[in-house]
Amino acid sequence: MEIACNVTRQAPLIAELVNLATAHQRGGASVRPLTGEDLTAAFAAQLGERTGAALRAVPDAGRRLGELAAELRQALLAEHPADQAGRINAMIRKYGAQPYLVEDVGQPFHLHFHGSGGTEVEALGGEFATALALIVDGYGPGRFGRCEAHQCEAVYIDLTRNGSRRYCGAACTARAKTAAYRSRRGGGTT
Ligand SMILES: [Zn+2]
Repeated sequence: MEIACNVTRQAPLIAELVNLATAHQRGGASVRPLTGEDLTAAFAAQLGERTGAALRAVPDAGRRLGELAAELRQALLAEHPADQAGRINAMIRKYGAQPYLVEDVGQPFHLHFHGSGGTEVEALGGEFATALALIVDGYGPGRFGRCEAHQCEAVYIDLTRNGSRRYCGAACTARAKTAAYRSRRGGGTT
């Protein structure tokens, strides 16, 4: 699936932005959702050098990123497909996502969906909103979720073939397995 090229790169970034800015518990521990410059610095570090620098140069980037993260979280965790589609469509409109072909050094032309609102945050908003739309279209419903491990509010985007993902990452998958094993053993005497 050619469209997945961009999407597979963006899915972890989308989840990371949402988790940095909105999760109060991750991986079994309490965390402080990041705001302002902390959020900008942490998320810029996840991006390529050029995009990260462009993001740090945006005035009030942290507040704009926080807003984008909240919108993404609501879209990811919307209960009904129609509500989810409505939220994604609203973001595509808000960030002015536009498809265009880009040629990076050493790569063939590929499709970007940068938003046209002006700053790097709007550009990312357009890319991310379109990525969610492509995932719904290409993979079907139920590909977004909240980690099911104890004390974790992190979101995940499931691009596995069979849609089997339940946890935000390897650490929570391991924690959940351990907890399940203990509760099975706990059924007997210790
Ligand atoms: Zn988790």
